[in-house]
Amino acid sequence: MGFRIDLFSIFPKMLEEFSAHSLIGKAKESGELDITVYDIRRWGLGERGQVDDSPYGGGAGMVMAPGPIFDAFDEVDPVRPRLFVSPRGKRFDHNYAAKLAQGAGMTIVCGRYEGVDQRVIDELIDDEVSIGDYVLAGGEVACLVVVEAVTRLISGVIGNEGSLEEESFRTGLLEYPHYTRPFDFRGRVVPDVLVSGNHQEVSEWRLVMSLALTIERRPDLIELRGGLTPAEMHLMVKYGYCS
Ligand code: SAH
Repeated sequence: MGFRIDLFSIFPKMLEEFSAHSLIGKAKESGELDITVYDIRRWGLGERGQVDDSPYGGGAGMVMAPGPIFDAFDEVDPVRPRLFVSPRGKRFDHNYAAKLAQGAGMTIVCGRYEGVDQRVIDELIDDEVSIGDYVLAGGEVACLVVVEAVTRLISGVIGNEGSLEEESFRTGLLEYPHYTRPFDFRGRVVPDVLVSGNHQEVSEWRLVMSLALTIERRPDLIELRGGLTPAEMHLMVKYGYCS
């Protein structure tokens, strides 16, 4: 059984189109991922399949009604954890993604308008997840951010497992710079160490680059990992980054 993903949205095509491509599309075909997109309108009310209504207490905008989402969950019995993407949620990051990737699957409900009726969150949702401190027009893009970040951590989804190991955040550091051919591109050449064939030096250089970049851009991450080890300090000095 692959990793199961159940997505609920009133714009299912956005999600379907995205998940048909690239690694996710391939993982779907190979059975590694089992993604189903449910159109909430299928459970909409009345002839027009209405899914929203005006808010009690007044105010601007509409709210997604509880009925269609409750009915959808009753029928589908979606996999847990059941997430609602929302600016009020827990901040999504690598650790959150890694935890989800270790499970058997996940369900994501995408909000639209002003959001969903609170009873949906209280009764059906295990966790609210935010992808950042800004407000999107709808949950679909946030949902895809979560799907992509989680699925690429699932074994088999990324062909070359090694490519995950040194990535930003996994090591607590930002990733070193990459280069590919040509060696000389418009007068800018690739750092010598990368063509030296000396693997030890290459990995030292990459670590130094990661450390320097993280110190410069994300000192909070350096603090989180408890600074630099003596060996790392030694390397930074060797490469002329500190004295
Ligand atoms: N009135 C709400 C925002 C509604 S935006 C508020 O102020 O909190 C409409 C929908 O977009 C939300 O229900 C949510 O599903 C999605 N969304 C918007 N911003 C998001 C974010 N930063 N992270 C995750 N989902 C978000």
